Amino acid sequence: MRLSRYFLPVLKENPSEAQIVSHRYMLRAGMIKQSAAGIYSWLPLGFKVLKKIETIVHEEQMRAGHIPMLMPTLQSVDLWKESGRYDDYGQEMLRISDRHGRDMLYGPTNEELITDIFRSHVGSYKDLPLTLYHIQWKFRDEIRPRFGVMRGREFYMKDGYNFDLTKEDALHAYNRHLVSYLRSYERMGLQAIPMRADGGPIGGDYTHEFLVLADTGESEVFYDSAVTDLTFGDRAIDYDSVEQCQGVLEEFTSKYARTDETHDEALFNEVPEERRRVARGIEVGQIFYFGTKYSEALGANVQGPDGKQSPVHMGSHGIGVSRLLGAIIEASHDDKGIIWPEGVTPFHCGIVNLKQGDAEADAACESLYEALTAAGLEPLYDDRKERAGGKFATMDLIGLPWRITVGPRGLKNGVVELTSRRSGESEELSPEAAVQKIVEIYANHQTGRGF
Ligand code: ATP
Ligand code: MG
Repeated sequence: MRLSRYFLPVLKENPSEAQIVSHRYMLRAGMIKQSAAGIYSWLPLGFKVLKKIETIVHEEQMRAGHIPMLMPTLQSVDLWKESGRYDDYGQEMLRISDRHGRDMLYGPTNEELITDIFRSHVGSYKDLPLTLYHIQWKFRDEIRPRFGVMRGREFYMKDGYNFDLTKEDALHAYNRHLVSYLRSYERMGLQAIPMRADGGPIGGDYTHEFLVLADTGESEVFYDSAVTDLTFGDRAIDYDSVEQCQGVLEEFTSKYARTDETHDEALFNEVPEERRRVARGIEVGQIFYFGTKYSEALGANVQGPDGKQSPVHMGSHGIGVSRLLGAIIEASHDDKGIIWPEGVTPFHCGIVNLKQGDAEADAACESLYEALTAAGLEPLYDDRKERAGGKFATMDLIGLPWRITVGPRGLKNGVVELTSRRSGESEELSPEAAVQKIVEIYANHQTGRGF
């Protein structure tokens, strides 16, 4: 993309309404624009990152054997009355009526709808196990929408639902989700720690929230610092293997890590003092086994091998796709702007032409642009007639992890400058070597072209 032809409405001033750094940078980098409280338009740069995150979530869900689909945002209230949640949900639910006076709602989640689909089409254990998911906009009329996309009213969420014959099978689905979530967050350059969470009114031990540590997080968290040493890395995993998935769950959840809702001071005190941490975190996902709550309420039964009917065991599993943009920025920025991890960066590398209009500099930039594009990467070429300082400030603000700077002086010696946004370090290389290096960096990140 050539910046002169893109739509990147960056702001020079700090927007006064933004209280935390991710919100501030998303507005300043021209990623989002508020249209109403807690409701945003996704401008091109924000949309690109949103789609990259969404793609990672899709790829990791499908890798785990979960099946993508799409359910609508607007739902009829009938199913919610059947499950009893129409009254329970309260004011967070946006209720609407259509021209015929029929009551509708903008879905805050989809347990009812998916259970209805299941009961309409599945009746036998032979069709199990089954996990269906979608990535769709949700609406919750939050009492205090704030912090930009972190706590919106309209937000983008992946929600998946597993259907299993037995509790044992459903717990395998739970573990599979835990593994696939760990992989997803790591690909986004994030450490999200599974913490034992509160099962709410349904109770039960089988729920974990994934938290990204950040001072601006809304949750208070308590953990053994040893959990921050754990990484999933690129180990192979067989998602069908009960032992392997269970093993990962044990590895990642056996140390103390809890949100304030489940915190137990006595247990926490058993952690060696020097490893006890109290901090804040951003919830970026939650997994939940809830048994037969919805299948009983909605009559979703399956026939077992013994011919007997029983309610199907279910769980639901969510990832806050739009909130993740804020969480990643909170975890990765400096005072000049965002620092995107390679896995989600909107463009793979910036090209800054220090002397636009200089025949040699222009030609060198064009050929870098072509070489990177031919290698399947997406460069952002700042081809505007602007001062170098302004171009650097924009690149730093929008946070591309790599920048190639091209100027007549370097070109005389046959070199361009390759700079890492994260370390700030630069090296001089031939244009070919710079391209080669960027191609190698991204070879380790499954990252395709964005939208
Ligand atoms: P919270 O406690 O933050 O209100 P929740 O526990 O009600 O969230 P879930 O129903 O578990 O949310 O939804 C799954 C994920 O969706 C959450 O982990 C979070 O990342 C994201 N999410 C929930 N509410 C919002 C919101 N208002 N804005 C943006 N993302 C949200
Ligand atoms: Mg939650």
